[in-house]
Amino acid sequence: MQQTPHIPDITLVGAGVIGLLSAFELADAGASVRVIDRQQAAMESSWAGGGILSPLYPWRYSTAVTALASWSQHAYPGVIEFLKSKTGIDPEWLQNGMLVTAMSERCEALAWGQGLQQAVFEISHAEALELEPSVHLSEAPLWMPKIGSVRNPRLGQALRRLCQEHPRIELIETAQAALRGSVESPELWVGGEHLKSGRLVISAGAWTAELLASVSVSCPIKPMKGQMLLFSPCALVSRVVLADGRYAIPRGDGRIVFGSTLEDVGFRRAPDRAGFEDLYSSAVSLIPQLKNVPVEAQWAGFRPGSPDGLPWIGPLSDALWINAGHFRNGVVLAPASARLLADQMMGRNPIIDPVSYQPKVF
Ligand SMILES: Cc1cc2nc3c(=O)[nH]c(=O)nc-3n(C[C@H](O)[C@H](O)[C@H](O)COP(=O)(O)OP(=O)(O)OC[C@H]3O[C@@H](n4cnc5c(N)ncnc54)[C@H](O)[C@@H]3O)c2cc1C
Repeated sequence: MQQTPHIPDITLVGAGVIGLLSAFELADAGASVRVIDRQQAAMESSWAGGGILSPLYPWRYSTAVTALASWSQHAYPGVIEFLKSKTGIDPEWLQNGMLVTAMSERCEALAWGQGLQQAVFEISHAEALELEPSVHLSEAPLWMPKIGSVRNPRLGQALRRLCQEHPRIELIETAQAALRGSVESPELWVGGEHLKSGRLVISAGAWTAELLASVSVSCPIKPMKGQMLLFSPCALVSRVVLADGRYAIPRGDGRIVFGSTLEDVGFRRAPDRAGFEDLYSSAVSLIPQLKNVPVEAQWAGFRPGSPDGLPWIGPLSDALWINAGHFRNGVVLAPASARLLADQMMGRNPIIDPVSYQPKVF
């Protein structure tokens, strides 16, 4: 007797941090879920990113981005403990704080911090040197002691395993998905086969607009390339240091990730010499002793760039949903974005008013 193929309640296209965490939230709320990725899960932007758990210069962002970031920052310690206990993989959450040089924005930054009860303090040059003796700062920085970071590849591995082992989630990898049909009645195709599903969610990061174009949705999310350098273990910094738009992120083993470029060059993937030189000169000017430390790796990733960094989290129609466009902040915004999507799809009270994140269809 032929078996009827299983038709999941919800299928997500794209298994980065956003797709994987959304799949988990939806399954946790009782839905049967399928997540599809054209390669191994969490190997694109979610692998390439730095893992700082705060927007850079957070006071520059809208209250809608801040609302997602604040919710996620409170949730992160619990998310990490849960992932460690369920999967045995440690995403290396470090909460050692962030130093930020931002002399010309001090008033805004301090007012922003006060209004939100976020810890933002002025400290002297000497106090900063005590915290980070190897760092050469051109001015006294601001100090945000509650900011943390995670090690992206490990966060991705932990989420992948969580989904693989969840009884209501089917993770399908190395399967290129395409959309056909219309927004109201979308069809999901993989390798010449029409995969039936309940509702669809597009969580394909920088490739979201490409997929939606097939159902005539014009979406402003576009790839914004970022290059990074990885320095060998040297333990020259213990907290995130952000100066002149560039940052050093310490890893638990003493390595330093240094980033990043911001390039509007489409899907041109290769890291290049110009990116290397630009980042390297910023790195040695911020931490002069890095001159003596080998660079182990250089890579590039594609941020899902959206206007003002505001993601789309909500329905395009009853059948087609989206959770994408987190730009420079997808790792920090992931827990709140996933929960907010699940709240809307499962008919629960949303954690945050979803109105600001509704897709603005063109
Ligand atoms: C250099 C750099 C530094 C960053 N630093 C930080 C930081 O410090 N803090 C922070 O919060 N954020 C940071 N980010 C941003 C963050 O990494 C992204 O916002 C986040 O990873 C986006 O997650 P995502 O799941 O939406 O996208 P992705 O991780 O890119 O996942 C999208 C997935 O969709 C899949 N896909 C695409 N098309 C298809 C298709 N047709 N069929 C099937 N699968 C498909 C892809 O294979 C991919 O796995 C950084 C990004 C970069 C590049």
